[in-house]
Amino acid sequence: MSTAPTPPPRTARCPCGSGDTFGDCCGPVLSQERRAGTAQALMRSRYTAFATGDLEHLLRSWHPRTRPDRADLAASLDENVRWLRLEIHEASTGGPFDDAGTVEFTAISRGPQGRQVQRERSRFLREAGAWLYVDGEVGTGAI
Ligand SMILES: [Zn+2]
Repeated sequence: MSTAPTPPPRTARCPCGSGDTFGDCCGPVLSQERRAGTAQALMRSRYTAFATGDLEHLLRSWHPRTRPDRADLAASLDENVRWLRLEIHEASTGGPFDDAGTVEFTAISRGPQGRQVQRERSRFLREAGAWLYVDGEVGTGAI
């Protein structure tokens, strides 16, 4: 399987749905030009990484304690899944002056099994200035 990401053009709307262009939103985070300043920004960049198949960003932004094996993660990225929408419900703490945060969101995708709605409350930690995804409580179902 190819792990090379196919990023959208910088002037395209960012896949995370922020309303900004990719070049002003998740693009520079995925290309490591800058770090995500908040837990929510990292969450958005990880959604965009799932949407664009950016395995390296997913691994890089995962806490070493909970990071999956590279091959396992690569196998879980399904090219047949299209990521349709991200909705952020709540981001508590996880700001520029915090070292921990949670983000509750719903990610909507469409795959061979139809439409999937995943709601998750994710936990993030900031270490050495970099926000990292730790884990999350997942719930799936229809809206
Ligand atoms: Zn974005």
